[in-house]
Amino acid sequence: MPFTTRSVVPHWSHSPCTAYYDLMQFPRSDSVAILMSGGLDSAILLGEALRTSTQVFPLYVRCGLHWEPVELRHARRYLAALERPALQPLTLLDVPVADLDPTHWSVTGQNVPGADTPDEAVFLPGRNVLLLTKAMLWCHLRGVSAVALGVLGSNPFPDATPGFFSACEDLVNRGIGGSVRILTPFAQMHKTDVMQLGRELPLQHSFSCINPVDERHCGQCNKCQERRMAFRVAGMPDFSLYAN
Ligand SMILES: [Zn+2]
Repeated sequence: MPFTTRSVVPHWSHSPCTAYYDLMQFPRSDSVAILMSGGLDSAILLGEALRTSTQVFPLYVRCGLHWEPVELRHARRYLAALERPALQPLTLLDVPVADLDPTHWSVTGQNVPGADTPDEAVFLPGRNVLLLTKAMLWCHLRGVSAVALGVLGSNPFPDATPGFFSACEDLVNRGIGGSVRILTPFAQMHKTDVMQLGRELPLQHSFSCINPVDERHCGQCNKCQERRMAFRVAGMPDFSLYAN
């Protein structure tokens, strides 16, 4: 039974700079939690939230997946590099999934989908349900009004549609007697537009790889390919360390 990493399929077409903020719907708020993986989209989402919110709470959910220890160390370095007044300490939440299929590539690190595999190869069903349920409950208990994800509009997976987020928001709030909102500010944006928003951010500390080599990106997996293409198409320098 597979699990997904972040379910993002990039769309490489480019829209004019003036459209970025028209497309992005990130409301000004007192407090917002950001579900961050340490990858490009959630790293940039965090940077955007720091521009518009008084308190920003980064949440990292540990599921017991192969790449998480390296990813988490990168996430900590990224947060340290941001150093903004609104940024709150990183919160770690645990949602272990390895017991569902201990032989799955995301758990073992064996036969990880390579650079030439389709996006569906890294789809892990159920991930957003699990992450959002715990994140929303965390927000509810602490009076944080919303949780945001860096999901792109071109994402084709069933747990990244407006209908899914609306239903999830309704269901979890019913179950907890809460009113926590789910925000997807990048839902109308293409990957390249999101990258442009992150031009001034310390993205060298973000991490996208599902098969890290020591502390570096492997340079050969599905997600490394997506990352390299994101920098290339956006015309931005890529300071990531690749083993290959
Ligand atoms: Zn990789």
